[in-house]
Amino acid sequence: MTEAFVILTSEIQAKSPAISFINSNKGKPLLVADDYTFKLNKATTTTKYWICTIKDCAAKVHTDSNNGLMKSVGNHSHVPETEKLEICEAREKITFFKNFSHP
Ligand SMILES: [Zn+2]
Repeated sequence: MTEAFVILTSEIQAKSPAISFINSNKGKPLLVADDYTFKLNKATTTTKYWICTIKDCAAKVHTDSNNGLMKSVGNHSHVPETEKLEICEAREKITFFKNFSHP
C-alpha cells in the first residue's frame, strides 16, 4: 500500500509547478518552474514552447500566449543547481535599480 501512496504524491507534484518569468542578463525571457529555468524555443500565436536551459535535458514547458501554464513535458536529467545562479544575478540587478532610484 505504501507504493500506491508514493505514486499518488508524485502525480500531484508533477501536475502544476509554480512558474514565474525572468529576463536573463542577456535580455532573453526565461521561464522558472520549480527552480528549473527554461528558455523560449519557439512561439506561435497561441502557444509558447520552452525548453530546459540545460543541454540534452528532455524537460519542456508549454504556455499559452498570456504565459499561462498549459503543459509540463518530460523530466529533468539533472538537479536545479546551476540555474539558480542565473536567477540570483537577475534578482541582484532588480535590487540594484531599486536602490539607485531611492533618495
Ligand atoms: Zn532540465
